[in-house]
Amino acid sequence: YKPLAELDPVVQNIIDKETWRQFTGLELIASENLTSRAVMEATGSILTNKYSEGQPGARYYGGNEWIDELEILTQQRALKAFNLDPAKWGVNVQPYSGSTANFAAYTALVDPQDRIMGLGLPDGGHLTHGFYTAKKKISASSIYFQSLPYGLDPSTQLIDYKFVHSQAQLFKPRLIICGASAYPRDWDYASLKKTCESQGAWLLADIAHTSGLVATGEQSSPFEYCDVVTTTTHKTLRGPRAGMIFFRKDLENAKDLERRVNEAVFPACQGGPHNNTIAGIATALLQAASPSFKTYAKQVIANAKAIADELVKHGYTLQTKGTDNHLILWDLRPNGLTGSKVEKVCDLVGITINKNAVSGDKSAQTPGGIRLGTSAITSRNLVESDARIVASFLHRAVQLTLALQKESGSKLVKDLVKVALDEKSEGSKGVKE
Ligand code: PLP
Repeated sequence: YKPLAELDPVVQNIIDKETWRQFTGLELIASENLTSRAVMEATGSILTNKYSEGQPGARYYGGNEWIDELEILTQQRALKAFNLDPAKWGVNVQPYSGSTANFAAYTALVDPQDRIMGLGLPDGGHLTHGFYTAKKKISASSIYFQSLPYGLDPSTQLIDYKFVHSQAQLFKPRLIICGASAYPRDWDYASLKKTCESQGAWLLADIAHTSGLVATGEQSSPFEYCDVVTTTTHKTLRGPRAGMIFFRKDLENAKDLERRVNEAVFPACQGGPHNNTIAGIATALLQAASPSFKTYAKQVIANAKAIADELVKHGYTLQTKGTDNHLILWDLRPNGLTGSKVEKVCDLVGITINKNAVSGDKSAQTPGGIRLGTSAITSRNLVESDARIVASFLHRAVQLTLALQKESGSKLVKDLVKVALDEKSEGSKGVKE
């Protein structure tokens, strides 16, 4: 019963240092957010002790009365948060993460070595959407399925839906995946649905990044057109780290989709659900259905637009020239920089971002851009005027990177790096009180 600080001060100290980093830094990673205290309490609860393989009412372990109540509540809240009719849609809330949700969904929909199509990783798609390189099949989604990526129109950097359609006519996929990790615009689900219908293919939307914006109606809903929708719960949705799979229940040709999805999650891809995390999802979904979350989602987008606008005013190049959602893809190639360099400098000054490929990049190792997201700063109540100041910090970080690149090895550079490192080590003593 000893508290962590007493029983394991080493781990407690690491948590303190990370707490300090999160409290004192500017978090601009588009896939991250700051979840609520209530969600963290649920996630850190006693529910972590319980095994509950199976479905509510049909478990492989005894003692699941309250776990059943929790899982059913979470399913109900998930459907409510996305405004879905329980007669038409069901949901599995057991996936451990977005990647396992996707693999389970593919397992439910297609057979091994079937053909799938998703947005290519260099164009903003996720690893799990079928990524491979010329040398290697990188993701399980390309190891176990035949994958053909689709891409962006190079002149607009928008999804080229006509090209997707013509590729699908040739490749004849059984599944088309839409959704992305780095795409600053909304999706045309209706167009992809037409393509799928022409091939008899399934349409799956992975809304991991935008699910909080979809739930609040700030991005268009995939539910009208897609057969299955997967999401993580920890990005714009602001919950704990996990995944969910929504599936249609009203399809003539897929009466058993519910069974297939549930069996794909367990026993095909996972074992016992993480009930503490499911409790965190339930609480996050309660928050996501509240009016204040709608205000939050609107502010996330307003902040992203404000940063984008300010960066353009500074003369920078943004992919698609701006954003409709929570993220910005900033092309640094015209400034003679790589994303990795700017990421490093930002790290030194307490701004957390990530290097990211931008359309037309030659190498994934040295991507030419960075990805910014506003979910976390908006959780800390920043508004547009603050976001513009954040953009000015980013501008200064780029100027500093350019100076460092030019002056490499000089005294000025060494002094700057020393100041940043000293400040960092002061912070890394952690939060004691
Ligand atoms: N799908 C998309 C679109 C993502 O961006 C991500 C993660 O960033 C995932 C799936 C995977 O989620 P996880 O990291 O929880 O496995």
